[in-house]
Amino acid sequence: MLLRRALSDFVGLIFPQVCLACEEPLARGEEHLCTLCRAQLPYTDYHKLPANDNPLARRFWGKLPMRHALSYVRFLRRGRVQHLLHQLKYQGQRDIGIMLGRWYGAELTECSLAADFDLIVPVPLHPRKLAKRGYNQSDTFAEGLSLGMTVPWSATALCRTEHTDSQTRKNRTERWQNVAEVFEVAEPLSVLGKRILVVDDVLTTGATLEACAAALLAAGAAEVSVATIACAEH
Ligand SMILES: [Zn+2]
Repeated sequence: MLLRRALSDFVGLIFPQVCLACEEPLARGEEHLCTLCRAQLPYTDYHKLPANDNPLARRFWGKLPMRHALSYVRFLRRGRVQHLLHQLKYQGQRDIGIMLGRWYGAELTECSLAADFDLIVPVPLHPRKLAKRGYNQSDTFAEGLSLGMTVPWSATALCRTEHTDSQTRKNRTERWQNVAEVFEVAEPLSVLGKRILVVDDVLTTGATLEACAAALLAAGAAEVSVATIACAEH
């Protein structure tokens, strides 16, 4: 034990662990995020508002029946959250997705929201993208939420069937049409009659989550909710 600690202190001297949000060195006992960043993340606290009545939920009004629309934090460009999500998505820091999911899941359990979900389904990546990146960042958040809420999750219930072109130069309607056809329920029996929480890392327009939710409802899901790590405010 002493030897292991001495060794980890020694390794820490050469490769200091830094906070994935602010890049300051971590203190002993801190994991992935420093205490200051954890305290100062721009939490939305949408789960403390009346169900389905918050700025994110309102974006789905009139489009799809949504039980809960939740996001852990606000997405702020050039800030800690953007840095954190970049680490999760492109720098192989899968653990941060699991950790955020666990923390958020514990909060949702505390205010009795966990009881509203039977299954957690992450937004799938196209297989080609998955092979290139090696993992789906939304899976890590789903896995963490599953641990925090004791609700099962499935990476195989939904799949992406067509490769989508880069969506950056399309307008909102085109973007919606672009992803609308590509989500398919691969295991209809696993979603039938279930109350499903669809999760993604970042919500920008909501078109992707909307397409996933529509596919799940069409396949017989009893109801859908969505949750993201971060959501951009318009
Ligand atoms: Zn920090």
